[in-house]
Amino acid sequence: MKINCDVCGDLLNEKINSEDNWLEWLHDTSKPFFYVDKSLRIVHRKCKYSDSDNYLLSDGYLFWYLGKKGLNLLLENIESKAYSQEDGFEIIRRLHIYENE
Ligand SMILES: [Zn+2]
Repeated sequence: MKINCDVCGDLLNEKINSEDNWLEWLHDTSKPFFYVDKSLRIVHRKCKYSDSDNYLLSDGYLFWYLGKKGLNLLLENIESKAYSQEDGFEIIRRLHIYENE
């Protein structure tokens, strides 16, 4: 797996099931369950969002979003508007299409 961190730009841990690699996104707490556009990103553990009063963080190990189950989870999150279609489709391309070329 060769995917770069959206924060520091370095390669993520190449082990598929590494707990150093995360997918995360933010919700605006003034609008419950409303995503923050462009907040969805792939990062190292050390590069994750820090706690904030204004935003609620959702996250998961990157490996949760790999494979068929992971693709389904990403699609379900788009359907439930956990993040925007545009953001979600870009992550799907990075994890499920570009990576497999
Ligand atoms: Zn990083």
